[in-house]
Amino acid sequence: MTMTTGDRLVDYDEVLTRYEPVIGLETHVELGTASKMFCGCATTFGAEPNTQTCPVCLGMPGSLPVANAAAVEATIKIGLALGCRIAGWSRFARKNYFYPDIPKGFQTSQYDEPLCIAGHLDVEVDGETYRVEIERVHLEEDTGKNLHVGGATGRIHGADHSLIDFNRAGIPLVEIVTRPVPGAGAKAPEVARAYVTELREIVQTLGVSDVRMEQGSLRCDVNISLNPAGDLEWGTRTETKNVNSLRSVERAVRYEMRRQAAVLDDGGRVLQETRHFHEDTGSTSSGRSKEEATDYRYFPEPDLVPLAPDAEWIEELRAELPELPAARRSRLQQEWGISATEMTWLANAGALGLVEQTVAAGATPADARKWWLGDLARRANEAGTELAGLAITPVQVAELTRLVADGTINDKLARQVLDGVLAGDGDPAQVVAAQGLAVMGESDELVAAVDAAIAGAPDVVAKVQSGKVQALGALVGAVMKTTRGKADAATVKRMLEERVLSS
Ligand SMILES: [Zn+2]
Repeated sequence: MTMTTGDRLVDYDEVLTRYEPVIGLETHVELGTASKMFCGCATTFGAEPNTQTCPVCLGMPGSLPVANAAAVEATIKIGLALGCRIAGWSRFARKNYFYPDIPKGFQTSQYDEPLCIAGHLDVEVDGETYRVEIERVHLEEDTGKNLHVGGATGRIHGADHSLIDFNRAGIPLVEIVTRPVPGAGAKAPEVARAYVTELREIVQTLGVSDVRMEQGSLRCDVNISLNPAGDLEWGTRTETKNVNSLRSVERAVRYEMRRQAAVLDDGGRVLQETRHFHEDTGSTSSGRSKEEATDYRYFPEPDLVPLAPDAEWIEELRAELPELPAARRSRLQQEWGISATEMTWLANAGALGLVEQTVAAGATPADARKWWLGDLARRANEAGTELAGLAITPVQVAELTRLVADGTINDKLARQVLDGVLAGDGDPAQVVAAQGLAVMGESDELVAAVDAAIAGAPDVVAKVQSGKVQALGALVGAVMKTTRGKADAATVKRMLEERVLSS
């Protein structure tokens, strides 16, 4: 493994012999509301820079914010899905700091009076359940976006100049903060990843955000500290910012555990700081020393009324919650008669929804799983895409399984049909017709191929006739080869037997 950083790292397994990790996650979810948090500006991703702004989100003097009800509702739904208590009274607060991408000089957030409090999320890793306690879910606004131009890395170092796009400033952002999670031991990186995965799925199910990590609508800060094994006092934590993929969450935890162990082994002290994660090397580097809450001089936002959702509305929202991912998985597991491990594979492969839709389109659960987790997973892997990114629909996969089940094609031909569908040649039945991929019946062509195989191998025929019936396999193989796999092996075998053994 090449390392471009100067950090000394302890072997991962060795870390666990001396230290126990404590992880914590702060996840930001950009809500998919049509307008911003405190003004009516649109929120379309990828719009021309600075075309979705107004005096409120640009922080002009005298402009007044009004809270977006849809964003409050979405935040309550997230809180309810995580088993939080919804505060009957909560307030926005000003978090004061200067940053070029924050036009007001403060971010409107929530401080000591968040909207949702004390929930939990259970995640499963290798058959073990870990409970992640949620400390709070609060509502705030996103910042603008800096664009550093002219440097090689897109970071500010080495850039000629920087541009700011305020389209994102003021988009509603929900922050979900866990309590510290001890006790995951060697599984800490996987638990962190499983938590973000499950949280993403919940938010997606609620339909309140598109949770695209690559577009930044779900961003994750990963806190990690180590304490000497058996020591009850937790160590100093670092906060790795804006980790932008599920895999990176896992890598960031792993790297920080190894790095911090080396610091502690050398008798050093882990600094409380933010760190950057580097996708290319999987390493982290020092950011800025971490502010304390007091540095921000939080105070209640004087321009906004408190949020006081009434109990009846909260109960209505609770009643409207859709079936959540964990409940759905356990229902499907029962319906399909599969094990918990198989269900985990399906979910991890991102195949759950696809298999469900394929079953709904008429395939058996076993067939649907076989194709999505087998050939299609392999092709997605080769193409470097996700299953859902393949150019084939669940309805087409269901049709493919039907063609195999009714004997029109066999598995081998089905793979060729898949190629055709993925290449854009149409539905499976169209590909079968266009490329002549159907299994051959007892056609003249097949009879000719069988006769040719017999005529071409008199020695094999003699062997079979002398009692070595297994030798027939060579003739079957020859016929399958001439017909390029289109014949049905059982039919070929029967035809050969009729001709060789009865003569
Ligand atoms: Zn605006």
